[in-house]
Amino acid sequence: MDTPAFSRPQRQISPGKLLIGGHWRDAADGGSAPTIDPATESAITQVAVATADDAQDAIKTARRAFDDGPWPRMAPDDRARIMLRAADLVEAHADDLAWRETADMGMLLRDSRDICVPFVAAALRYYAGWATKLDGSVRVHSREKIGLTLRNPIGVVAAISPFNFPMVLSIYKIAPALAAGCTIVHKPSTSTPLSAIRFAELLMEAGLPAGVFNLLTGAGAVIGDALVKSPLVDKVGVTGSTRTGKQIIRDSADTLKHVTTELGGKSPNIIFADADMDRAVEYAFWAAFGNKGEQCFGGTRLLVEQSAYDEVVHRLGERVKAAKVGDPFDPSVEVGPLATKAEYDKVLDYIRIGREEDGGTIAAQGDAGHLDKGWYVPATLFTGVTNAARIAQEEIFGPVLPVIPFRDIDDAIAIANDTPYGLASGVHTTNQKTLFEVARRLKAGVVWANTYGEFDSAMPFGGVKQSGIGRELGAEVLENYLQVKSLWLGGLA
Ligand code: NAD
Repeated sequence: MDTPAFSRPQRQISPGKLLIGGHWRDAADGGSAPTIDPATESAITQVAVATADDAQDAIKTARRAFDDGPWPRMAPDDRARIMLRAADLVEAHADDLAWRETADMGMLLRDSRDICVPFVAAALRYYAGWATKLDGSVRVHSREKIGLTLRNPIGVVAAISPFNFPMVLSIYKIAPALAAGCTIVHKPSTSTPLSAIRFAELLMEAGLPAGVFNLLTGAGAVIGDALVKSPLVDKVGVTGSTRTGKQIIRDSADTLKHVTTELGGKSPNIIFADADMDRAVEYAFWAAFGNKGEQCFGGTRLLVEQSAYDEVVHRLGERVKAAKVGDPFDPSVEVGPLATKAEYDKVLDYIRIGREEDGGTIAAQGDAGHLDKGWYVPATLFTGVTNAARIAQEEIFGPVLPVIPFRDIDDAIAIANDTPYGLASGVHTTNQKTLFEVARRLKAGVVWANTYGEFDSAMPFGGVKQSGIGRELGAEVLENYLQVKSLWLGGLA
């Protein structure tokens, strides 16, 4: 039986402006660009394209707000109160935020509405809780002297976020930076800025003092570059590609900024023959094809124990063919469009490369043939390639998954770790000994065992090797936004 006809919810979105010093304004030269809905290829609205001068204004404003403004000096409890209000406002405007995210980047509405918006509200609450707990310590205590440590906010933060989970990856930086008492210039992705604009409005409505949070939309090469090179910025938190991360580290060297980088991945997801196969196959599907493969932590190399290889390829292949491709607002769809035309072209190119590689065979593929508009790439399963293939080594950032067989634990670990990246990983087995051994030997910042893609504000997230430096989330991220000062008190006796 056919599913009932689906009707796309419509919304009018006003043109996006820049937020500097509590005022919404156009770019200095009046420049703007359309932001495009990848499902329809049509413009949603115009968004300001900040100039280098706008960037300098925002940086100076954030600097003044930090050096002379109330936010870093405010009682932590009052900071927390504003963050808690912001969390309530995010929930109250969940529909708007989720609509923007889905229209702007092609994320399934059920993900933007039921996962991302609640995550943003929860992160604000979690870090609001931390604002009152950023205490120091007494390290030396004698008759003559006392040595104290004080933890102070690090200063002006440039928060630079990518296109693929726009709201969530911005809050990873914004919430702990606010809790610490920092001021912020946020630069969302050029292609998916709409949720960031609404979020900035909500922060102002929550009562954040002017200048504490500033928003610049536009090009990374102009605004990002200005932020990273400015002597007035103390800290850069970036999530993006490994290429951008390396460029930012180079560009920030002259001013010796603190930099945290959350970068690319090519994470192994390992299925042993003794795994609960229903569960393992379903997680393998979402690990690879969730958010149409535009997820840094995705399980984008599926390693399967030789004896279970044919069964997994068959079952996952059936799952892939059954996954409906289409409008991300449609609740029956599982694979939406890629966020931009450039991503679409790149991913199609990788599918061509995969077919041309030695042994590369498409074992199963979904169907996007009925869609005459939109940047849709169906879920695609490859067999026949080794871990040396380009589609197994390079980050594709789309719904393309090579399945690679392994002989035993040693072989699985050797293949899993044979990558320049080390962001995440998965292991599926019912054997506890295997599970712990694999978890211990995987070179990755995160291991998901008998699950995949779990996130919580309390759990640190980040990579090793070329997946980045530092951790976000958890208590760990707070140190990114704090500086320790040692205070000696002498002459006491
Ligand atoms: P990107 O590197 O193209 O851009 C990321 C951000 O950096 C954007 O806001 C961009 O405008 C800005 N930027 C670009 N050049 C800059 C420069 N020279 N100086 C300062 N800023 C600059 O990444 P993307 O295509 O938006 O996102 C996809 C990439 O992000 C993938 O590689 C993915 O793996 C990675 N990612 C990593 C994580 C993680 O937590 N490790 C999470 C999500 C995405």
